[in-house]
Parts: sequence; structure tokens; C-alpha cells
Amino acid sequence: MKAIYTFGNGQAEGRADMKDLLGGKGANLAEMNLIGVPVPPGFTITTEICTLYNQKGREAVVEMIKDDVMKSVEHIEKLTGNKFNDPSNPQLVSVRSGAPVSMPGMMDTVLNLGINDEVAETLAKKSGNPRFAWDSYRRFVQMYGDVVLGMKPTNKTDIDPFEAIIEELKEKKGVKFDTELDVDDLKELVVRFKAAVKENTGKDFPTDAYDQLWGAIYAVFDSWNNDRAILYRRMNQIPEEYGTAVNVQAMVYGNMGNNSATGVCFSRDAGTGENLFNGEYLINAQGEDVVAGVRTPQQIMTEGSRRWAKLQGISEEERAAKYPSLEESMPECAKQLVDIQHKLEEHYHDMQDMEFTIQDGKLWLLQTRNGKRTGAAMVKIAMDLLREGAIDEKTVIKRMEPGKLDELLHPVFDKAAVKSAKVMAKGLPASPGAATGQIVFFADDAEEWASRKKKVIMVRIETSPEDLRGMSVAQGILTARGGMTSHAAVVARGMGKCCVSGAGTIKVDYKARTVEMDGKTYNEGDWISINGSTGEVYDGAVATVDPDLGGDYAAVMALAEKFSTMDVYTNADSPRDARKARELGAHGIGLCRTEHMFFEGDRIKAMREMIIAPDEATRRVALAKLLPLQRGDFEGIFEAMDGYEVTIRLLDPPLHEFVPHQLETMRELAEQTGRTLEEVKLICDGLEEFNPMLGHRGCRLGNTYPEITEMQARAIIEAALNVKAKGVDVHPKIMVPLIGVKNEIKMQANIINETAKKVFAERGETVAYKVGTMIEIPRAALVADQIAEVVDFFSFGTNDLTQMTFGYSRDDAGKFLAIYKNLGILKEDPFQVLDQEGVGQLVEMATRKGRAANPDLNVGICGEHGGEPKSVKFCNKLKLNYVSCSPYRVPIARLAAAQAAVEEA
Ligand code: ADP
Ligand code: MG
Ligand code: MG
Repeated sequence: MKAIYTFGNGQAEGRADMKDLLGGKGANLAEMNLIGVPVPPGFTITTEICTLYNQKGREAVVEMIKDDVMKSVEHIEKLTGNKFNDPSNPQLVSVRSGAPVSMPGMMDTVLNLGINDEVAETLAKKSGNPRFAWDSYRRFVQMYGDVVLGMKPTNKTDIDPFEAIIEELKEKKGVKFDTELDVDDLKELVVRFKAAVKENTGKDFPTDAYDQLWGAIYAVFDSWNNDRAILYRRMNQIPEEYGTAVNVQAMVYGNMGNNSATGVCFSRDAGTGENLFNGEYLINAQGEDVVAGVRTPQQIMTEGSRRWAKLQGISEEERAAKYPSLEESMPECAKQLVDIQHKLEEHYHDMQDMEFTIQDGKLWLLQTRNGKRTGAAMVKIAMDLLREGAIDEKTVIKRMEPGKLDELLHPVFDKAAVKSAKVMAKGLPASPGAATGQIVFFADDAEEWASRKKKVIMVRIETSPEDLRGMSVAQGILTARGGMTSHAAVVARGMGKCCVSGAGTIKVDYKARTVEMDGKTYNEGDWISINGSTGEVYDGAVATVDPDLGGDYAAVMALAEKFSTMDVYTNADSPRDARKARELGAHGIGLCRTEHMFFEGDRIKAMREMIIAPDEATRRVALAKLLPLQRGDFEGIFEAMDGYEVTIRLLDPPLHEFVPHQLETMRELAEQTGRTLEEVKLICDGLEEFNPMLGHRGCRLGNTYPEITEMQARAIIEAALNVKAKGVDVHPKIMVPLIGVKNEIKMQANIINETAKKVFAERGETVAYKVGTMIEIPRAALVADQIAEVVDFFSFGTNDLTQMTFGYSRDDAGKFLAIYKNLGILKEDPFQVLDQEGVGQLVEMATRKGRAANPDLNVGICGEHGGEPKSVKFCNKLKLNYVSCSPYRVPIARLAAAQAAVEEA
């Protein structure tokens, strides 16, 4: 097994397509070498070693790779001419983690490793820049202390012990920025940092470069299993088994003085998708400074710099003098960087997110990857690349993350409302979107409030990986510090969350839980709105409207239409939902639940009257009151779905769900039906069941009270005839729920067909209709061939089918599913992602058996899974005719269906 891959000086043992083994960072560092981009030399320890480390432990792995590590360090030394662990000619390195898929901020990096007192003296002498030497040293002790020696605070209000020391010193010296500390200050920091380490860990800070190196390697491997990393993997469905690689790389120094810098850049705008090279940099700084939001970073391109200044309300003179672009301050390097970003984008055929460092006027690239982006940017960039001829149509489809389309469907601020809104602050448009919510300051509060269905906006000075959970449940994020590439901005864009960063005028007080904006003090719980597209922060909740779904979105959806073979229907119970779904591309209704219709207004009264009826005759009287109401509902839905199929499910839930549970309403019902309260109470109580989900429901209602099915069938057929007379192209499908036995559906089909015949005779007119069943009881899947003989279609009700296959009550599973996922017993919630292995087998078998018995059988699924990309792809593989999902998931399902078609081909 090859444990280590080296790179440097235009050569590399790895390649871009070796991400699984080398991690994304390592694979691309290798590739950049191969295509002639300047990258400091180094080596990558593979993810396989991380897996072994986790399985066999530290000693076994060190034994295995010790010699290789030594040889690889020599490889670096050969290329730089310096020596690791040699105070007379020292080589420093960075130790960086890198998983197969990018996990921003998840794993920790240590810079300037290999330094100690003696080395610092040499670096100071050799560079003629003692400030640089001691700045690097104090940074190293801090990073090593935090990352490797575990001194990073875990409590949200605790401050990093090293930061506390820095703050204290800055206060004592009366300065604001780290850069204002002089050499003696930095030396003092190193001494005090080490003392803090000794106090905290009881051990001296390691001075031997190899001790430091191994410590850092262990820390990277260990960080694969830290809480943040585990959470991120879970949120993004990244397999635990992947492991991380370790990259050890020669340092280049952005903190060597005013001819040095460090920065982050994107070949296109990750928020909007605009084809504009953009990024930020800091002079005389190192690595994390840009993302950490410690100092205000400057823009790389002059155009971006001007846009930025405008948003910040900074004049052109002030901008040019205080915040010049890289184009203005280091034109040669900027030009080279522009060329490199072009080269990288052309090479990878996608938007690149890059890190660079300039050491004494020489540009080095430290990372490139396909940039994270918002849903809007995802769509625009793919369509732009298609128009530029860089990628083809199928690649556009493959590039989409279906789930991200969701962001484009969300409301945007109402233009008129924004005009009259009061702007309290302005920051950077870090991640587009409109968000309104109540202010919270801490991640755990955000989680807690969100769990109570509150809309929150997280307001912070800056964010860090600890805030991830909170950010993921917030409507939006507002920070006082940090640029377009700050942690908040990058993570928000990745999540498709609205974010305004670097609103410098707001004053956040974590202790008091207040934020002051434009003279007004907001408390936790107060409402604000933030506009991630303009950077504006508004007072109160600003009204929103539906977004425009034309342009590139429409173009991508047209491509989806072109390539997909399976159709997408919607679950809709009202004309309004039906119209919305149609707008979003649904080609029919796969599930129209009739029970919801019984709750509206006075209808519930007639329904209850029907339920407590003592005999068939009384029941028929009540049903006759319901008939015109149902018919009217169906007419509206048929009209909205003109030209498409509408699948209507007959009454499904247990009757107990409809009866009154409060004495007051029971009394009303008693009056209404001319019975005593006692009688009504008795009937209602009598309807209560031990296991309602397995009780008197579904077709069991229709078979025990045939007149209910009769009324519903009549309402459907009459409605169809009525709209047909108006010229509507109507295609009703009548669906019987909860079939387990062939005779159940036989009897129901019989009632439906007899009723239709009667109505046709009364009207002297006919309309084509279909009768089908849901397959949601495992027994129905097992005898699907028998059932298929009597129906035109199957629709898998995967919610109930999952419930009954697992034996998990959907309403109670919340108690243990989260724990099951944490324990790894289940990888995913089977109610969200179709369990292909178990439930999927039933779907596959029933489809096969059903189609064998009835070749014309039409098959689809309804249920939450119909809008979940992985489940949609599975349905495509089984060649189902359609999936059906809620209106807002229709575009996601359409894209997933197209992806499945493209990937399978
Ligand atoms: P992350 O995955 O959090 O971005 P990185 O490993 O990319 O972590 O490193 C963190 C920061 O340190 C980045 O800004 C990166 O460019 C910088 N960096 C990493 N290695 C070196 C190096 N050898 N020389 C200079 N800067 C480096
Ligand atoms: Mg990085
Ligand atoms: Mg069901």
C-alpha cells in the first residue's frame, strides 16, 4: 500500500481524480503542479492511512509510515534547499487536513510548524524581518495549542485563552490590530502563550520539529471524529468511512511584510453566479486572517473594490488610499492571478474557489476546488458554461444539486415593502435571499427557538464552525465582522442561506444579548429583516413575494424536461395547490386527499352527522349534504389540472379523527342531530381505537359503509361530467386506499363502477375514468399480481408502506429515530429517504408482479419520498410511470428524474 504521494516543482504522484485517496485538497494540489500552477512542494498521507489509524490505532500506523514520512520531508527539503528541524537553515511546513469532499472549517490546519526559539532567531536574521519571524512563531504556538493540544474553548461564551492574552496586551499597548504589535510584543506573546500551554496541559511546549509534526498528524486524523466533523457529515450525508488525508506542505509566508499578502478568490460570483473574478486579500497576513474577519479584507479586482466601497459608503478617494485592490497594490501578482484563475476554470470546467499567498512579491496557489454556491449561482453558472461551450447539456443536468433549487422558489422581498422599510445597517451581500426573523445570538438558542417553530436570524460578531447547527436552522445570518469570504459568508452560501456579513456599524453585545443598529437597541427576540442580495438590514418584518421563475431557471427546467423519461405529478388537495404545482411543472395530480376537504368551515358538521348516524338511512341523509361540497371541490381541481390526470383518493383516516373531542362541540353535535349529549359521547368514545393506524380506516371504511364510497364516486364522476361540459379535458383516477386483500379492491371497484354507470345513465353522458389502488400494506405488495387484475393503476403510498414494513409508527418514531441515526443503526430516516433495501424491494416486486399480470398497469408513488432526489432516482430505475410530491418539491423531483435518466444512459 502506497501511504504517501508527493508533489512539487511541476511534478506530482497524484492527480485530480484521486480525491478518494488523497482528499480534495491533496488531489488538486497534485493536479495544479501538473498543469504548471505555482504550488509550494509537499506530500499527502492518504485517507486509507486515516482509516487504518482509526482501526488499528496510533502506534501501528506510525510504525507503518515513519520511514515514508521522513523520505517525504526530504523531498520537500530537496526542492526548497532548507532543512526541517535544522535551526541553521530551517524549513517550516503546514499540516492540513483534506477529506474526499470539502468540509469547510471542519478540520483544523496548523501553519508554521517546525519553529522554536532558535529557529525564530534564524528566520529573523535570514529574512531581515524579525517581526515576521516572531509573528509566525506566536501564530504557531496558538494554532498548535488550540488544535493539537486541545486548548480551544468548548463553551460558547469562553474566549480562546490565546486571544485573551492578545487582547490584554493590545489593550495595555493601546492598539487595535495585531499588526500594530511590535517585535517585543510578539516575543512576549510567545512566552506567555507557552506559559499558558504549560499551565493548561502540564507539559512544556514541544520544541522538536518532528514531535510537532507527529502531533499535528495525529490531530488531523483525530479531527475526523470531532463533533463538528461528525455533524457536518451527517448534515451532508458524507460517509463516515471516507477518512481524511493529511497534507504536509512547505510554508510560504504572506506575513513577510508589505510586499506579501494572502487571499481567497472565486473565478465567478458564488452568490449570484455572475461571471466576475472576485476575491479578497490582506497585506502582511497569514492564512486564516482573511476568513476569520479579524481585519477588513480588501478586494482583489478594482471593479469589485469599487462595488464594495459603494456598499460600505466609502468614498473613492478613501477606498483607493486605504483599501486599494490587489490590481492597484500589486499589479504584477494580480495579473498572474487572473491568468491562473482562467487556467484553472478552463481546466476544471467549473467555477473555482482558490486560496493564494504572495511571499515577497511571488505568487503561490495553496488550494483550488469547485466552489460552493447558492442555488441561483448553480443555475446561472451552469447555463453560462453551456453557452460558453465549456460543458454540454447533460453536464448541466448532472451539475445540479436538485435540493438547492428549493432556494430559487423561496419568496423575495416585495419591492414596495423594501422601499418603505427602514434601513438600520448595511453590510456585504454575502449570500442572496430575503430573510425575516427574530434575533438570536447563539447557535443553541437558534436551535431551541427553531424547534418551537420560530423564525430566527442569527446575529453575531462573526461565526465559527461551532455555530453551524444554529446557522442551519436560522432564516438568515447577520455578522458585524468579516468579508465575502468569511466563515459566515462561505457557509451560508453553501447552505443556500441568506447572509449579510461585515455590517461594521452594528454593535453586538453577547452578554446583554442586544445589538445596536443606527442608535436603536434590539433585544433577543426582536424582529429584523436582512437582504442578502443588497446587504441591507431592515427594521421589523418586511413583506415578501413569490420569485420570478424565468431565465436560467426556466432553461434548466427545460433541459430537465428534455432528458427525463419518468413523469412528475403532485400531491395537491386544493385548486390553489394544483395551480402552483402546475406552474412548477407538475404533469398531473398523483394524490388528492379528500379528508382535508371535510374540515373546512361548516363541512365538519355534516361529516360528524354522517359519522354518528345510527343507521344507513340517516347516514345517507348526511352524505347527501356532503356530496355537493365534494363535487364543487373536485370541479375546481379538475379545472386547474385541465389536460392532466387527477388521482383522487377515497376517504382514508380513521373516523375518530373527525369527531369532536371537547364537551362543548359534542353538545353542539347533539343539538344538531337531535340526540342527547350522553349518546353522542358514547358514540365518539366508541370510535376510539388502540391502534388507529391499523384500525377501521382506508378501504375498510368503504367496505363497511359502502354508501361513503358511493357518495365520493358520484361526486367525482358528476364533477368530471360538469367540467367536461365546460370544455375541460378531464382525466379522473379514483384511488382506493389501504388494500391488503384482492376482495377488498374488488368490492370497492364494483361500487365505483356501478355508481359511474348510474350517473352516466342519469346524465346521458360518459367520461373516461380509471380505478386503482394504493399499495401501502406489505400484503398488497406480496399479492400485487392478484390486485393488478382488477385495477388500472398502482400508487405506492410509501409513507404507510414504510411505517408497516418497519413496524415504526410514524407519529412515534421521532422518539427513537434520531437516536438510531446517532448510533448508526440507521443511516437515514426511512420516512425521508426511501429504504431501497427493504421497502424498495417491496416496491420493485409489486411493480414487477403487477405489470406481469396487467401489462397496461400504470405505476407511480406518492408520499414524501416522491420529492427526495435519491428516492426519485430509485423510482426511475424501476421504470415507474411517475413520482408525485408536494408542489414545492416538483422542480426538485423533475431535476432528479432528469439526472437519473442522464446517469442511467
Ligand atoms: P481550510 O480547509 O480550513 O481552508 P487549509 O488547510 O486550506 O484549511 O488552510 C488554512 C489556511 O492556511 C488557508 O488560508 C491556507 O491557504 C493557508 N495555508 C495552508 N498551508 C499553507 C502553506 N503551506 N503556506 C501558507 N499558507 C498556507
Ligand atoms: Mg482552505
Ligand atoms: Mg396511506
